[in-house]
Amino acid sequence: MVDFELTQEQEMIRKTARDFVDKHVAPNVEEWEEQGEIPDEVVREAGKLGLLGAPIGEDYGGAGVDDLTYALLTEELGAGCSSLRTTFSVNTSLFGNTVEMFGDEEQKQRYLPEICTGEMRGAWALTEHESGSDAKAMETTATPDEDGYRLNGKKMWISDGDRADYVVVFARVGEEGSSYDPSDKESQLAAFVVETEREGFSTGTVMGNDKLGLRASHTAELITNDCWVPEENMLGEIGDGWDIANAILQKGRLSVAAGAVGIARAAYEASLDYAEDREAFGRRIGDFQLVREHLAYMHQQIETSRLLVWKAAWMADQGQDNAQAVSTAKLHAAEAVMDVTERAVQVHGGNGYSSEYPVERYFRDAKICGIYEGTNEIHKVLIGGEALDR
Ligand SMILES: Cc1cc2nc3c(=O)[nH]c(=O)nc-3n(C[C@H](O)[C@H](O)[C@H](O)COP(=O)(O)OP(=O)(O)OC[C@H]3O[C@@H](n4cnc5c(N)ncnc54)[C@H](O)[C@@H]3O)c2cc1C
Repeated sequence: MVDFELTQEQEMIRKTARDFVDKHVAPNVEEWEEQGEIPDEVVREAGKLGLLGAPIGEDYGGAGVDDLTYALLTEELGAGCSSLRTTFSVNTSLFGNTVEMFGDEEQKQRYLPEICTGEMRGAWALTEHESGSDAKAMETTATPDEDGYRLNGKKMWISDGDRADYVVVFARVGEEGSSYDPSDKESQLAAFVVETEREGFSTGTVMGNDKLGLRASHTAELITNDCWVPEENMLGEIGDGWDIANAILQKGRLSVAAGAVGIARAAYEASLDYAEDREAFGRRIGDFQLVREHLAYMHQQIETSRLLVWKAAWMADQGQDNAQAVSTAKLHAAEAVMDVTERAVQVHGGNGYSSEYPVERYFRDAKICGIYEGTNEIHKVLIGGEALDR
């Protein structure tokens, strides 16, 4: 059975998210983007409303909502502020889900309740300077030392890395400086929770409002220099790292795709308003067929993106393998949001080029959707691989 009617709980969470965006995000987003950061109180307010920890189980401080409900919530955040949506993606979808799905009971009790309230923040560090798409080629090492591991290496582009209290760090277990065996990139990979206050952990370069988009989101280089963590900070076992990263990226990618639908929707709605108000040649520009074609195309792209997101989320909620569906949704939504926001700028004419109108920000924020959590090219490779593996 396929049913597009939302449950009362889903409607309620979507409304709570929309109200939160209207009250706490929309009036301030431009200021945050200019200042290059989002105040902590806003993240904590999302925690109080039960939004920040929504998909985390009730036993650990969350609301235990399913993937479809979380996609509804994420679409609302994406429509309001992609930088804040990124905080949700790394704190909740990546850090929170990693601990919940792969941590033991003690780890879940230790880290999850605080990241659901926003009192503490989580980040997730896979990428390095020399390895992004080819993440298995990471060089960060975890060397066994007493009852734990000494981490050495540099992670790059870590969203909220400098603001986080806890970071999931992926590393290769082995001697520092040891090179990996290219024919066996996985068997030594492991995931650790690193408390950022630990000795040997530091932040390098941080990017904020000097980026193309996500200007209120911090993106940090994270350095571990003989940073010792106890054995109990490892999630799963040595050799589980790659499976953990892959399983969790399915969650994060879906939140990026839903966020992309949100950006596209906001750009479309701004364009509808503009097409109704703006006049040229004595008529509102929405009366011109070529402007309507832009609006129709935008509508079509948003509908198809959302359907793909909902399908991928629904599959997860049915316990089905949704890897190909997630990649398809993420790829389509990432391409669609570029087209939609570009057309939104076009409908706004010269005003679309000005930061006085939000479509300029939507256009800049759209680009990242096709880069992080798997570039568009990588998702094409994954979709093609799944197709041939039938
Ligand atoms: C703002 C921002 C926030 C981020 N946040 C995080 C975070 O929180 N945590 C984290 O771990 N990472 C994060 N990243 C990193 C992000 O996931 C990587 O940038 C991304 O995976 C691409 O890796 P790369 O930059 O090394 O590009 P590369 O892998 O070097 O790719 C360069 C180009 O080559 C293409 N390419 C590479 N391999 C193939 C292939 N096999 N087939 C076809 N084309 C290929 C790519 O598609 C791309 O076009 C973030 C990045 C940005 C920009």
